[in-house]
Amino acid sequence: MAERILVVEDEQRIAQFIERGLIYEGYRVEVAYDGKTGLVAARDNPPDLVILDWMLPGVDGLEVCKRLRSASSVPILMLTAKDEVADRVTGLDAGADDYLVKPFSFDELMARVRALFRRATPSSKPEVLHFADLTLDTGTHRATRGERPIDLTAKEYELLELFMRNPRQVLTREVIFDRVWNYDFGGESNIIEVYVRYLRQKTESEGEGRLLHTVRGVGYVLREE
Ligand code: CA
Repeated sequence: MAERILVVEDEQRIAQFIERGLIYEGYRVEVAYDGKTGLVAARDNPPDLVILDWMLPGVDGLEVCKRLRSASSVPILMLTAKDEVADRVTGLDAGADDYLVKPFSFDELMARVRALFRRATPSSKPEVLHFADLTLDTGTHRATRGERPIDLTAKEYELLELFMRNPRQVLTREVIFDRVWNYDFGGESNIIEVYVRYLRQKTESEGEGRLLHTVRGVGYVLREE
């Protein structure tokens, strides 16, 4: 069965351009022209991926993103006319997995969509990775620290999986960029720092020791304290 994509975009011309292209590529598509309708659509018929415009009438894209994220880990690709790092960070804080800045070509959009699906779909046989008291199930994408379950977004999962497959190895920013964001995110972006911060917040609650360490000027390493 083809994957379902929910497109939330108020500009009809853009929405139709995306819809037609995605249908041509073999996806099932639902379009919502405002945030409220988008949220209802996502609740009634959970999509496999959401393409979400930032500037929407009524409930804006950021708010839609937050609400979607509070209920599911569906990959969210945000569309934005804004191209500032601060905006990206705001969107990432809201739980978006990726960004595309308008105007974009359909090929660019498809590259992002495929990348998000690739990350969301485990390609190899599921296994449970262990490091210290951290576990990560590559089949269900469930993470736990001790007995405590950890909720991860698609991108956070991918980053944690990369570290857990390479324990005690220093991963450079370049390697992380290449493996988790396998296209150029705009050079000076602080996206890795942002995601490492998210992972730390989620894996170090309630006084648990640090596992994800910064190696200054180089990158990061997963190791015992
Ligand atoms: Ca718009």
